[in-house]
Formats: sequence, structure tokens, C-alpha cells
Amino acid sequence: MKEDEVARQQRERMVKEQLSARDVTDERVLQAMLAVPRHLFVPRDVQHLAYADAPLPIGEKQTISQPYIVALMTQLLELKGDEKVLEVGTGSGYQAAILAHLARQVYTLERIPKLAQQARKVLRKLALQNVEVIEGDGSQGLPEHAPFDAIVVTAAAPRVPEPLKQQLAEGGRLVLPVGSRVGQILERWVRKGEDYEVERIAPVAFVPLVGTHGWKPDDAPASWWM
Ligand code: SAM
Repeated sequence: MKEDEVARQQRERMVKEQLSARDVTDERVLQAMLAVPRHLFVPRDVQHLAYADAPLPIGEKQTISQPYIVALMTQLLELKGDEKVLEVGTGSGYQAAILAHLARQVYTLERIPKLAQQARKVLRKLALQNVEVIEGDGSQGLPEHAPFDAIVVTAAAPRVPEPLKQQLAEGGRLVLPVGSRVGQILERWVRKGEDYEVERIAPVAFVPLVGTHGWKPDDAPASWWM
């Protein structure tokens, strides 16, 4: 069997056993998770684990999140196809690729240049035209492209960064982990005028959001795993 076919079968099993069997029900999200070749976003030495129910190391002490967490966060954004989306924490670029399948335009911000460059390479290989990787401190958002219909932060914030709240469009959804350095709650903020409806979704453990509206680099602990 060809390598691509094997990977496709592994993705089908991932979607069935890790996503549909849990609470991921958005058909568009399931299709995107089926379509994106996750194994291309991880280093060669962990490629055999690409479809496992786990986060994986991607270098620079960072991780690609567990497939279920990627799918859950994406589902919470309620994308229909015409949205402008911001991701904070490009990492491998995998979540950005999923978003690119589901929205009109995706901007993704990464503070570590080496990861941004590698993510760009894979996204280009997949010919995804509607995603732009930008290097910088995503805790400040991306004012030049605001407002966003949806914002997802894939690193742990001590509190919700004010610029991200401000850069959300009316009715827009902001999904992010908020909490301490050892564990957080996944939250969804929905903008209603100058107010926000807040839902607390599930306990999670992400690598830290390091920046002006995140943790100081020194605050960051040595190992994280989502
Ligand atoms: N979404 C990623 C993926 O699909 O592979 C996983 C992200 S990883 C869990 C968190 C990423 O957030 C790391 O690559 C880290 O360097 C990045 N990060 C942390 N603080 C950041 C900041 N202030 N701005 C941009 N990226 C940041």
C-alpha cells in the first residue's frame, strides 16, 4: 500500500475513534481533520505517532496539540466558510491548515522564527493559499487585519489578552486556554457589543503564551504537553 493511502486510513481511524466517538460533531471540522496530512507537520522521528491520541514535540520546546484538542477548539469557533480568522501560536502550522480548510482567510502568529519558517514551508507544500504565517508577539493580536470573526490561541494565557478581546468582531468567537502555569481552563468568549459571554469548556494544559499580554519568558516552566 502507498504511504499516502496508509496515512489516509490512519486519519479515518483518528476521526472515528478520537473525534466522532467523543463530542466532535461538526461535519466540516471532521472533514478538515480527515483531509489535512498531520504527519507532514511533525518531525521525522515522531512521524509514526502522527495520528496517535496525543500531543507531540515539534522542537524549540514546543508541541503540536492532541488531534482531539485541535478539533474541539476549531468546533468552538463555529466556522461556516466566510470568516477572517486569527490564530495565535502557529507551532507546526497544523491548526492553521485545518482553519484554512474552514474559513476564508487565516492569519497565524508565531514568536519563534524557526517554527514560523518550517510551518510556512509545509503550508506552501500543501498549496494552501489563504493562510499567512507572521512572526511576532500574538498576545498583542494583529490590529492591522482586525476585526476577526474568530480568534484561537493555542498557548496558555494567564488572563484573556485585552487586545484580542478588542480585535474580535461583533458576534466573534475567541477560544483560548486561561489559567496558571500548570493547568488552564479552555474558555470561549463571544462578543456582544462591549460585553462578552464567557463559557468554560474543559481543563487543559498548554505551553505558555509568552509576550506582553502573556507570561514573561522567565515565568515559563521547562516542560508542557498540549
Ligand atoms: N497550533 C500549533 C500547531 O498546530 O502545531 C500548536 C501550538 S504550540 C501548543 C504553542 C505555540 O505558541 C508555540 O509554537 C509557541 O512558540 C507559540 N507562542 C507562545 N507565545 C506566543 C506569542 N506571544 N505569540 C505567538 N506565538 C506564541
